[in-house]
Amino acid sequence: MRLVLLGPPGAGKGTQSVLLAASLDVPHISTGDLFRGHVERGTALGEQVRAIMTTGGLVPTALTVAVVEERLSHGDAADGFLLDGFPRSTVQAEALDRILASRAQELSAAVLLDLPDDEVVRRIAGRRVCGRDPSHTFHQDTAPPLRAGECDYCGGALHRRTDDEPATVLRRQELYRSETAPLVDYYLRAGLLRRVDALGPVAEVGNRVQRALAASRR
Ligand SMILES: [Zn+2]
Repeated sequence: MRLVLLGPPGAGKGTQSVLLAASLDVPHISTGDLFRGHVERGTALGEQVRAIMTTGGLVPTALTVAVVEERLSHGDAADGFLLDGFPRSTVQAEALDRILASRAQELSAAVLLDLPDDEVVRRIAGRRVCGRDPSHTFHQDTAPPLRAGECDYCGGALHRRTDDEPATVLRRQELYRSETAPLVDYYLRAGLLRRVDALGPVAEVGNRVQRALAASRR
């Protein structure tokens, strides 16, 4: 299956992507990971990405598309993939359609993890990350640490990422609405949209995703 996963920040896209890619046995392709990988390997694309990121800028669409297209040309993506973080706009969605069309392929479905605005804010506001290792993450409501403010794995102090500060969250939501929300219409018109309620435990949401996709297996 060739899939795109959409949803507001805090909807659990990262978690659901990993689960879904594993169950479908397709690569999980995250643009964030791709950018970091190119930068680490010092590729020509990575040099461009690094130059933009060090100035705090957003990676432009043409460069993002080039990075995704390069990744989709790898053998493991020949029979399917799950894209996470791309496309972010209808311009990028059109670029993806062109890449696939050039290989006589098409998208199987676009899964939208749907979450009400107030729930998005509640989820993000509760996120905490370890000061020593950012892969140690917690949530005040859903995955609290054993001792308040302290990392279970290493004892490091927990804090809120700058990205998760309320003002930043509002800005990201606005960006999501203005850029990504039109994608929902785009995929709705194409008959590819699968809307999934993202409220509830991870496993339950995962089951809903599987059921939503059962109709579009190919
Ligand atoms: Zn830690």
